[in-house]
Amino acid sequence: MDSQSNNENQNSASTSSNLEVDEDTAMCDSMVVGGDKTSADYYFDSYSHFGIHEEMLKDVVRTKTYQNVIYKNSFLFKDKVVLDVGAGTGILSLFCAKVGAKHVYAIECSSMADMAQEIVKQNGFSDVITVIKGKVEEIDLPVPQVDIIISEWMGYFLLYENMLDTVLYARDKWLVKDGLVLPDKASLCLTAIEDADYKEDKIEFWNSVYGFDMSCIRKQAMMEPLVDTVDQNQIVTNCQLLKTMDISKMTSGDASFTAPFKLIAERDDYIHAFVAYFDVSFTKCHKLMGFSTGPKSRGTHWKQTVLYLEDVISVCQGEAVEGSMTVAPNKKNPRDVDIMLKYSVNGRHCRVSRTQYYRMR
Ligand code: SAH
Repeated sequence: MDSQSNNENQNSASTSSNLEVDEDTAMCDSMVVGGDKTSADYYFDSYSHFGIHEEMLKDVVRTKTYQNVIYKNSFLFKDKVVLDVGAGTGILSLFCAKVGAKHVYAIECSSMADMAQEIVKQNGFSDVITVIKGKVEEIDLPVPQVDIIISEWMGYFLLYENMLDTVLYARDKWLVKDGLVLPDKASLCLTAIEDADYKEDKIEFWNSVYGFDMSCIRKQAMMEPLVDTVDQNQIVTNCQLLKTMDISKMTSGDASFTAPFKLIAERDDYIHAFVAYFDVSFTKCHKLMGFSTGPKSRGTHWKQTVLYLEDVISVCQGEAVEGSMTVAPNKKNPRDVDIMLKYSVNGRHCRVSRTQYYRMR
């Protein structure tokens, strides 16, 4: 899953952008943003257009991994009842039906559900796949329990869009005891990069625009994590695991956390930004399967998430950048993610300690 495209449709009424929410300025998830549409409507609407599904389907790392998980582990699916949470075009349901699932319930709230319905029929799976148009939180499932929940819920920075909550809701409501959630592990990782050129272009640009000081926009640009592809040659430190989530056991609250980190410089260089990315795995397969969205792996539509630093940190090989990252859904608009980053360096050329706030929106 992915969609920052819906951002463009949402009026950015909120100016609160850290973990201490300003009650007055923060935007509510269902606030009216134009006509009779709410921001929540725009979120689901963005999935009504085929373009976003085309992008996801053409992300072969993503889609092939799900296909391989299902095709190479047909023993998991044979004669099982499967729930596809956020079915989109129905691709995951089709994979499951093809390897012999007894029945698949494909829930999709956007109008892509109508297409999924037609696709299912066109491919001769009408007897096995039932498409249900509606929100997971609002629909009635024709059966009391399912054996497997499959979903592709991951957003930028893993947690943007907060669809994980929907998967946990479905798990707690319908999954049979000892049932499977696929994928069942998701990890957030961190590294640090040299990025002078791009920081200059995206951030420092605002300091002087045709001779005018627009640095008030620089502040906003700094707070907005940038979703982009990072060249692995820019990586200065090791990569560290921040947090692993066990989707089969976790609660919704576990998606808010503080994780410490200690990144070690692998060469002498400057650091301009931290880079976050995620890995996903299917540990209940015959062989461990999954994929990484890290800069050293084959690219995906999630790219990486770049968090620029106020300071340019100069590090020598072996020196540490220590700190912690706090992640939480924004209180007023839970599809947004608030990030607090603390970091400090006590090196030969650089001594610095700072806290920065970001918001994924
Ligand atoms: N499974 C498809 C689509 C993944 S994108 C694929 O792998 O290609 C996630 C989908 O979940 C989107 O189509 C979105 O509309 C849907 N979705 C998000 N939240 C939902 C909810 N609460 N109820 C039902 N569908 C939801």
